[in-house]
Amino acid sequence: MQKVEYIFQDKIVSCFFDADFSVIEKLVPKVATVYLTDENIHQLHSEKFNDKKVIVVPAGEKFKQQSTVDNVIDQLIQLEADRETILIGVGGGVVTDMTGYIASLYMRGIKCCLVPTTILAMVDACIGGKNGVDVGIYKNMVGTVKQPEFLLYDYSFLKTLPTEEWINGFAEIIKHACIKDADLFAELENSSLEEFKISALKMDRLIQRNVQIKYQVVSADPLEQGERRLLNFGHTLGHAIENMYALPHGHAISIGMAAASTISISLNNFSLEERERVLNLLNKYHLPFDLELDIQKVWQIILRDKKRSGKDMKFILLNKIGDGVVFPIPLIQLGNILNELF
Ligand code: ADP
Ligand code: ZN
Repeated sequence: MQKVEYIFQDKIVSCFFDADFSVIEKLVPKVATVYLTDENIHQLHSEKFNDKKVIVVPAGEKFKQQSTVDNVIDQLIQLEADRETILIGVGGGVVTDMTGYIASLYMRGIKCCLVPTTILAMVDACIGGKNGVDVGIYKNMVGTVKQPEFLLYDYSFLKTLPTEEWINGFAEIIKHACIKDADLFAELENSSLEEFKISALKMDRLIQRNVQIKYQVVSADPLEQGERRLLNFGHTLGHAIENMYALPHGHAISIGMAAASTISISLNNFSLEERERVLNLLNKYHLPFDLELDIQKVWQIILRDKKRSGKDMKFILLNKIGDGVVFPIPLIQLGNILNELF
């Protein structure tokens, strides 16, 4: 086990990497804890939840809604949870997002801790304190910002993670490499998903490095005015096509990253060779980089994007591999470019 402390504006968050789930009982008083998890994890890792107070929610983004939150709050009341209660979220991004949100609402705020069980939650969703739920089809429409007391990484959860969820997580890892870390990019080129899957040591190093990247980007820009926008690389187009074509998040942003790499050539002198490397890396990690799109419909969704400001879209492009940049593109120009591209 390795402890690393991350300093956020208002709080120090400890990360316990390569830790055992049972360590939680040494970190917080057992009588005060209530666990929140989803049906899949509860079933696959039932032994971990023996003799604990557990609230189980149905699995999947579809249930990341206020009605689920209300239900959990009812159960917290039944369990006589009070201000001293610590809510421990064990799951993917859906569970960890709801955990932070519920902890910031219940009795005007109780403590929470997160145990991410997907790659995506480990390297992305759990870091930065953002939480919330979807409202109907609108993703993360309500929520708060609340840092957990600690994050605990127990890689034994990954043994049951379906391959498609590994692939989704690696899309965010490739994103981090593209915008911030050329060495990581090269390391990914020289390795494979299959190699990471069988080596806990390799995985631990990879996860720690990605947590560090996400932490640095988030903490450099608490107000989300600049640097943090880099994390949207591939996400403007990605979010637009995710719902429309019912794509897994990783697939959607992969197509978005491929398109952004291509746009980087014409607008930002990104080289053809480097774009080729991005496409090859996505392909190597079983991610798609192309899709037949109804670009007119996609464009209508993009126009509603939160990142749009007036006549410009703050699009993320690459200068080089490992060096992303926030690039305002006039909407008319972006519309034309996408029309040509798809
Ligand atoms: P994400 O982390 O990708 O945002 P979710 O929280 O929806 O998304 O998790 C994705 C799916 O993987 C869900 O069906 C969830 O139940 C399942 N899941 C999460 N962690 C594990 C795990 N360690 N083993 C097996 N299934 C898991
Ligand atoms: Zn994402």
